[in-house]
Amino acid sequence: MEPLQPIRGTKDIIGEDQRRHAHVIATARATAATYGFDEWATPIFEDTRVFARTLGDTSDVVTKEMYTFLDRGGDSVTLRPENTAGICRALVSNSLTQSLPQKIFYAGPMFRYERPQTGRYRQFNQIGAELIGPSEPLADAEIIALGWDILTVLGISHEVVLELNTLGDAESRTAYRAALIAHFTAYRNELSPDSQERLEKNPLRILDSKDPKDRAFVEQAPTIAPFLTESAGAFYNSVKRHLVQLKIPFIENPRIVRGLDYYSHTAFEFVTTRLGAQGTVMAGGRYDGLVAGMGGPPTPAVSWAAGVERLAMLLAEAPPAPRPVAVIPLGEMTEPTALNILQALRRAGIRAEIAYRGNLKRRMERANKIGARAAIIIGDDELANNVATVRDFSSGAQTQIALDDLPAHLAEK
Ligand code: ATP
Ligand code: MG
Repeated sequence: MEPLQPIRGTKDIIGEDQRRHAHVIATARATAATYGFDEWATPIFEDTRVFARTLGDTSDVVTKEMYTFLDRGGDSVTLRPENTAGICRALVSNSLTQSLPQKIFYAGPMFRYERPQTGRYRQFNQIGAELIGPSEPLADAEIIALGWDILTVLGISHEVVLELNTLGDAESRTAYRAALIAHFTAYRNELSPDSQERLEKNPLRILDSKDPKDRAFVEQAPTIAPFLTESAGAFYNSVKRHLVQLKIPFIENPRIVRGLDYYSHTAFEFVTTRLGAQGTVMAGGRYDGLVAGMGGPPTPAVSWAAGVERLAMLLAEAPPAPRPVAVIPLGEMTEPTALNILQALRRAGIRAEIAYRGNLKRRMERANKIGARAAIIIGDDELANNVATVRDFSSGAQTQIALDDLPAHLAEK
C-alpha cells in the first residue's frame, strides 16, 4: 500500500522544528503575561458568517483562501483563517462587552487555502494579542511594544523593521478613498482583475496588492497624510511619540493597509528581508466596528498576529534537545528498584528514561543515542548496597551514589 502523505500545504512539526515552535509560543505567552494579557482559546471552526461578515468581502482571505464547507447538518462552517474575528465573537457570546478592557493572548493553528511555499502554508500557527476596549493611542503603543518585546526576547528584533502607517479615522478615509479612486480609475484597464474589483468595493485594498501588474500604479498613488483630519493626525503623532519614548525603532510606510477590511488608525507590520516574499512576521493595527459586526456595541480595539513558522525560522538556533538521564537496570531483579528510581527522579522534575532491553553495552549505546547526560546503572552489587553507579557522560566520571541521594545528585545545575 502506498503510504499516505500530509495534505499539501500542511506539515508535521517534529523534533527541532517542534522545539523552535514551542519556544516561540512559550516566549510570547510569558511576555504577554507581563503586560497583563490572559490566554483565550476559541474553536478552530466557526459559523462562516463570523468571517464573511467581518473580514470584508474584498479581502483575499474571504474571497480566495477560506476553507468553508457544509457540515452534516447542512450548516456552513469555516476553519478559522485568523483569530481576531473569533475572539470578538467570543467577547460577545460570553457577554464580556461591558467588562473592558479585555487583554487577550492566543496561540493556535489557522487555515488558508494558499499556494504553499517556504513560510506560507495551508495550516499554519499564529500567536496574537488583542487589546479590546481602550481607544487611546497609548494602547496602540502598548500592543506594538508587546510585539517588539517578544521579538527582542526571541533574539530576532535586529532581523526585523517595524513599518508603521495610519489609516486615519472614517472622515480621513472617505477623503483618501476618493483620491485613490481618482488615481486608479485613470489606469483601470491596466490593473489586475482583482484590483479592478477592489476599485469598486475597497480601493485602499489595492495598495496591499501583491500582483506585479499593480505595482507601478501603487507606487504613484497618493498617500493618506494630506487627507488626515486634525484628530487623526494627532492620534498618529501620539503613537509615534510613545514609540520613540520606548526606544522602539520604526519607519513610516504609507503603503501599509493590512489585508483585512476592519482596520482604522494604526496599521503596522514587522518585516524581515530574510524570508523572501514571506517577509511579514507580525502584523496588526487598530480596528473599529468588528465587535459591532458580531452583534456587540461599538468597541475600539487594537491587535496583532504573528506567524509562528516565520518566527521559528528566524531563530538563530533551535533550543537544544533536552538531555535525559538513562536508568539502566541489569537483570530482572533490579527492575523494581529501577522503577522506583525513575519515579523519584521524575517527581523531582528530572527527565529520566529507562533503557528497556539488552546487555550493558547495548543499553549504554541506547543512552548515548537519546543524548543522555548521565547513565544510572543498577546491577546486583549496587542493589545489595543500596547505591547506583552514575556515569556522567560529559566528564566521563563514574561514581557510586546512594539511591536516596540520586535526585539531588542529578538535579540540573
Ligand atoms: P501575507 O502578506 O504574507 O499573505 P497576511 O497579510 O495575509 O500575510 P495576516 O493575515 O496579517 O497575514 O497574518 C498575520 C501573520 O500570520 C503574517 O504576518 C504571517 O507571519 C502569518 N501568516 C499569514 N498567512 C500565513 C500562511 N499562509 N502561512 C504561514 N504564515 C502565515
Ligand atoms: Mg495573506
